[in-house]
Amino acid sequence: MFRIFPDDDHNQTLRLKRFFMALGSYLMWFTICVLFYSQGLMTRAGIKTLFASSLGILFCNVLIYALIRSGYNKKLKDPSLTLLQMVIATFWVMVIAYYADSMRSLVLLTYLVVFIFGLFRLNVWQFLFLSAFAVVNYSLVILLLYKINPELVSKVDILNIVILAMVLPWFSLVGGYITRLRAQISHALSTIEKLAIIDDLTQVFNRRQMYKILEHQKALVDRGIHPFSICIFDLDHFKRVNDTFGHTAGDIVLKTVAQETQANLRNIDHIARYGGEEFILILTNSDKNQAAICAERIRKKIKDLVFEKMPSDFRITISVGVTEYQSNEVIEEAINRADTALYRAKANGRDRVEYEPLTPA
Ligand code: GH3
Ligand code: MG
Ligand code: MG
Repeated sequence: MFRIFPDDDHNQTLRLKRFFMALGSYLMWFTICVLFYSQGLMTRAGIKTLFASSLGILFCNVLIYALIRSGYNKKLKDPSLTLLQMVIATFWVMVIAYYADSMRSLVLLTYLVVFIFGLFRLNVWQFLFLSAFAVVNYSLVILLLYKINPELVSKVDILNIVILAMVLPWFSLVGGYITRLRAQISHALSTIEKLAIIDDLTQVFNRRQMYKILEHQKALVDRGIHPFSICIFDLDHFKRVNDTFGHTAGDIVLKTVAQETQANLRNIDHIARYGGEEFILILTNSDKNQAAICAERIRKKIKDLVFEKMPSDFRITISVGVTEYQSNEVIEEAINRADTALYRAKANGRDRVEYEPLTPA
């Protein structure tokens, strides 16, 4: 079934929402026209002109909507089509300006509404382009009027052009500045979002994000969608690494182990830093047997890992505790089981994988 907004594309939905806001502004345009017309302030425009212009606006907007909804806009440099929408709106403001007789100056006020939409996207140069476009358009309106009905043009119209040519570039500078600020804020926001879920040292998910993913997986299993398993692993004798090679070398080892593990997981699986030198793997759509295979594979990979800036014979091993989440249990119960298995792996000599309950061989 056709939907006005796409279900799965947040950016496109946002663009369409802005489009509908702009469409709402055309209602203002329409109301002004009807008001002026009914008060006899648009003597040169008949009902046909009003109707044809409304159809023209409708056509432009259906086109813009189709461009965005079809996804064609994504191929363009400005996928929001802000500049295009503003150029079109500028044109229609000038159409009323042309017919508005004595109310022309007032119509220019509505132009600021068009400009405000630029705050969503335009840089200073695009704003300046639009200012120039508006000033030229308005000058042409006055010139046209002067040629056709010279009695309708007065000193006020020339002053209007001068004022427009002063106000709009100023608005462009401030508008461009606001757009830049907005981009900086949005960049800062995405950095904060990343900081909130990523562990600074190892660049894998942090504990908070780990719980989020676990809760999501729990919901899937509890609804019978698919199983998932967790593995908690801990670096063996890591304290010795710090004591022998220093904390900085220890940090590099931690980061390398985390990154190497991540590189060896499917992209539907996750790794998070659980504690100091402990990590958790969340293996989606995996029962305990599949988790066993994965845990063994990772253990062997880490055992063979060669580290930068470390002696060539330096190696690190990990001990792993594995468990499968049981439907409807509390996440902590599964974590505790994996922890129990991990402690057994340590007690049984390290560099090994253990399970809880004790199923896979
Ligand atoms: P085991 O095999 O029993 O796990 O021995 P271990 O030495 O790894 O265990 P222990 O818990 O005694 O030591 C863990 C060490 O990990 C101690 C701590 O200083 C170190 N560590 C924790 N977080 C970091 C970190 O971010 N960077 C570095 N370099 N070391 C860390
Ligand atoms: Mg350890
Ligand atoms: Mg530990």
